[in-house]
Amino acid sequence: MFPRMLGFVFITLSACAPAAPAPQTPPVPAPFSVPATPTANPMPANPDPLLARFADLKPDAAGKVHLTDAQWEKRLTTMQYQVTRHAATERAGTGEYEDTEAAGNYHCICCGQLLYGAGNKFHSGCGWPAFMDEANPGAIEYRTDNSHGMERTEIVCTRCGSHLGHAFYGEGLSKTNVRHCVNSASLLFVPKKN
Ligand SMILES: [Zn+2]
Repeated sequence: MFPRMLGFVFITLSACAPAAPAPQTPPVPAPFSVPATPTANPMPANPDPLLARFADLKPDAAGKVHLTDAQWEKRLTTMQYQVTRHAATERAGTGEYEDTEAAGNYHCICCGQLLYGAGNKFHSGCGWPAFMDEANPGAIEYRTDNSHGMERTEIVCTRCGSHLGHAFYGEGLSKTNVRHCVNSASLLFVPKKN
């Protein structure tokens, strides 16, 4: 039906290597230092031209951006809209940024908030871009996600509420032992200028 025709999958983003045995230790919960309702970070005064598309967004006093579902749908591609506003998951290995190694920053595709730096990106082999830490403290909210029979930590943009992916802990895949498994469709990469 409709979602399958468009190439979406709505249920993945789970353990990294499907063929590997299940981890024997329970996942470490999200850091307790993360506030329940973090304040979004302000936009930079002189953003890169690639971020000009977000100039019309007017954050409220708390720095949050509020648009209707219809307004988001109009601003985004179908894949970006389904992933960010309805927590769909792009099919593994199909995202634009999985293998990107260039220097620069990754911003929220919906509101432009800085989320990750290229220096924190690593190859997880999982089929989606992976980051070992956020670049911008306060940019990401961590939510418990019990959907699809799994206990996971959903990661969400604090400025606009867009779904990014999930965070996994204790896998031993990165220096921080954290893997933010992020849909490329949730991100806008802004290369570093020379
Ligand atoms: Zn956002």
